Amino acid sequence: MDRRKFIKAIGATSLITGGALVSAPVVHAKKTIKWKMVTTWPKNFPGLGTGANFLAKLIEDMSGGRMQVKVYGAGELVPPFEVFDAVSAGTAQMGHAASFYWKGKSPAAQFFAGVPYGLTGQEMNGWLYHGGGMDLWKEVYAPFGLVPAAAGNSGVQMAGWFNKEINSMADLKGLKMRIPGLGGDVLKKAGGTPVNIPGGEIYSSLKSGAIDATEWIGPYNDLAFGLYKAAKYYYYPGWHEPGTSLECTINKKALEELPKDLQSIVLQACRVSSDELTAEYTARNASALQTLKTKHKVQVKRLPDDVLENLRALSEEVVADVASKDPVTAKVYESYHQFRKQAIAWSNVSERAYLNAREL
Ligand code: CA
Repeated sequence: MDRRKFIKAIGATSLITGGALVSAPVVHAKKTIKWKMVTTWPKNFPGLGTGANFLAKLIEDMSGGRMQVKVYGAGELVPPFEVFDAVSAGTAQMGHAASFYWKGKSPAAQFFAGVPYGLTGQEMNGWLYHGGGMDLWKEVYAPFGLVPAAAGNSGVQMAGWFNKEINSMADLKGLKMRIPGLGGDVLKKAGGTPVNIPGGEIYSSLKSGAIDATEWIGPYNDLAFGLYKAAKYYYYPGWHEPGTSLECTINKKALEELPKDLQSIVLQACRVSSDELTAEYTARNASALQTLKTKHKVQVKRLPDDVLENLRALSEEVVADVASKDPVTAKVYESYHQFRKQAIAWSNVSERAYLNAREL
């Protein structure tokens, strides 16, 4: 091939400089892909809001700046409980929330957040990643054009903040309490009135007496909201949320339009941020509990056995009832239920046995 033909053959990406043939880099228009992430949390709220920020930054870093994700706090772009719809419609490409907020979309969604007397955080991740849970979650969200990912686990939550002692089931009767998801349905069966309000409105509602009691998450987040200033007693354990998984939702079309490597980066960043947030909760809950007890003199109390036993029985009824709603929910329940049975047998000889041994 003579020189002229050769130059023609390799095309416009090469040029001759000073007699030498130099291959010039292929120049693509460097357009940064800009995504929006809407959240159900107050902007920069410890753990939740900062977890969303962490995920956004990770995507930007891992993509070498090819992607930017702007995080919006609750109400900044859309109201907190419209996150699911906003991502489904493509108003935002990502959402950061918890799936039990979307029980009106599908009752099955609740199994991917937390179930009263259900899986712990560690067991939950086992079910999601190696027990078929994630495939079911994708199936449940597919009709909405959404791809779900786990975004961190709160671990066992606290039962909540009360201004009166809970000594028996009778104390739950007539109680107006902020408690979302299946836990709320259980409280209703116990004669209480569950309400679901976004995190950002909990403190003012409790302080004003619009609600009698509330649960939120655990010491780390409850301290940040100053809930100890609005209620006297802090009860445990969080029977209603033994290991709630947070979620990241991704608009399926937006994800599929990304080059393959960026698709992988988005999904892997979710996985990393999930591990990160779970570790953060473990560390910060421990230190915040100490602060609540020593600095703010909070009375930390355990729910009586009788109450816990009754709530467990009611929870079984509520969860089985949800399972009968539709075929998809029944399928999710069956998978969760089977996994839970095995997980209990294993946890009894591992986590439970060890935690008991540590206290002997
Ligand atoms: Ca909670």
